[in-house]
Amino acid sequence: MGDLSGKTAVVTGSTSGIGLGIAKVLAARGANVALNSFSDTESDHAVAAEVAKLATGGARALYVQADMSDPEACVRLIRKAEAEFGAVDILVNNAGVQFVSPVEEFPVAKWDQILAINLSSAFHTARAAIPGMKQRNWGRIVNIASAHGLTASPYKSAYVAAKHGLVGLTKTIALEFAEEKIKATCNAICPGYVWTPLVAGQLADQMKAHGMTKEEVLEKIMLARQPSREFATVEQLGGTTAFLCSEDAAQITGTTISVDGGWTAL
Ligand code: NAD
Repeated sequence: MGDLSGKTAVVTGSTSGIGLGIAKVLAARGANVALNSFSDTESDHAVAAEVAKLATGGARALYVQADMSDPEACVRLIRKAEAEFGAVDILVNNAGVQFVSPVEEFPVAKWDQILAINLSSAFHTARAAIPGMKQRNWGRIVNIASAHGLTASPYKSAYVAAKHGLVGLTKTIALEFAEEKIKATCNAICPGYVWTPLVAGQLADQMKAHGMTKEEVLEKIMLARQPSREFATVEQLGGTTAFLCSEDAAQITGTTISVDGGWTAL
């Protein structure tokens, strides 16, 4: 039986990449997991079934369709997990999208979408989940921010603004838990580049666009700001999340943990 047995986790945006990596680790540590994305396909449910196979100690996993750009759907996700598993003890706000453009050309609809998915959804899910955490006097909220929650890059205005906002929301929730003496924490993880299917696709595109080898693209473009010159892995993000959910991390709250190969140390 894992150290998270008896707990239930909701991981937003978890049919691929980091969210899926986190869902797998939490299930393997014994937590029930509600996986989520905006679509409702057979493959979405199949992903949850794969995660269920990794679950220990009788834990279950299921898929809940909910578009994180829709405030009502955010609340529905939490209510559905509570109805299925009896509680939401761990909330991982991971869903996120990116768009790159100079500020003056940035489409207004894209700005609104990125702020809604990458920032406001975390407010709506937390708002729905916190009363239950207070009632049970235990909770963990882990917000997947980014190195771009602490530093900026040109042409990523909405993403950088949303991720900085997510770090601010994290600190406020943590202080409210502490003020009210609730055994609950809220932290943000700030990854640099993480090896996901999305990033693998970007690598292939960059090789084509620049006529470069894989090594050249990694060295000169993609990992130029990541001093370790290595990607973080989704398993490492899962492990960091599980640590923040453990009792060892009970006094870690209102802070950021960088998993960025030294990016923000530069
Ligand atoms: P990804 O595209 O592989 O996964 C994103 C997930 O979010 C997918 O499951 C997708 O279906 C889901 N999603 C997208 N829009 C949604 C919506 N409207 N409602 C519900 N779900 C939605 O991306 P990833 O690389 O795993 O990124 C996950 C998180 O980590 C994001 O918040 C991203 O900003 C952050 N992050 C990623 C990296 C990286 O290098 N990959 C670095 C720093 C931060």
